[in-house]
Amino acid sequence: MRSVLAGDLGGTKCRFALVGEDFSVHRVQHVATVRDRAAFLDAFDRAIGSILGQVPDGLDRPTAAGFGTAGVIPVGGRAIDRAPNLPLDGFPLGEHVESRFGLPTTLLNDGRASALGEFLRGHAVGADPLLCLFFGTGIGIGVVVGGRPYGGATNAAGEIGHTTFVPGGRPCPCGGTGHFEAYCGGRAIVERAAAEVGIHAEGAWDVGKVVRAAEAGNPAARVILTDARLAACTLAENACTLLNPGALVLGGGVLSGWPALRSTIEEHVRANTGAAIHGGLRFAPSLGGSDAILWGAAAATGVLWPGANAR
Ligand SMILES: [Zn+2]
Repeated sequence: MRSVLAGDLGGTKCRFALVGEDFSVHRVQHVATVRDRAAFLDAFDRAIGSILGQVPDGLDRPTAAGFGTAGVIPVGGRAIDRAPNLPLDGFPLGEHVESRFGLPTTLLNDGRASALGEFLRGHAVGADPLLCLFFGTGIGIGVVVGGRPYGGATNAAGEIGHTTFVPGGRPCPCGGTGHFEAYCGGRAIVERAAAEVGIHAEGAWDVGKVVRAAEAGNPAARVILTDARLAACTLAENACTLLNPGALVLGGGVLSGWPALRSTIEEHVRANTGAAIHGGLRFAPSLGGSDAILWGAAAATGVLWPGANAR
């Protein structure tokens, strides 16, 4: 069976594996993401070398590599232009993998990789266009159009979390103000809860602490969640109205910590978009996790499922 080397490069850890054309995932290797580039690349090379050194029986040696990564990938997918949590700004990772391991390499933003994985294997298989919104530390978005991840003219499409929700409002991690992410991103919710409620949470998945405080009657926690709910609902409504997707996939750590938000968003979209938008719209939970990114990154190479490659 044919295979592709796939990677999920995240801000705290990276995961590498072989992906077979039946979507099976083999020989998984984990690497902690460190800030020093030389140390990072050393661990990166060792993990890939270990995988390629022990290709399982029944699997062909991989003929390409695909990586889903945080950060901005210029058109062509050869380098990571800006990677906030990886020591790879401007580094030609595609050339690096090709010269070290002889594998033609494709890089893909991890939101797009996730969306492509959801499109191929998730709960909304084949829904086209497919819109995925991930309420994690930040707001991740992935759009699949015509079976391919949509990148826009310069591979920068989709940053709807950094559009304005409240003019002149709260500061956003990107440096702007009043953006959706400053209200319904996981980092924004927990940082605001620390400052205004005294709750010490650790990440998007810890939003549950804020939910429990609100349920216990804490007025400041209630205000934070009311703002977050309105921002998340409006964001989904706007994105669905713009794209008219066949399915909306919702995922991310904020929803894990605050499960009721999922149905609230779905009800809001049904009630606030036209019948032509919501009439045929399917709602689906995200598969989530790293496997969706590995599948999407593998697909982006165009080797296993030729219709699904990135541009
Ligand atoms: Zn922003």
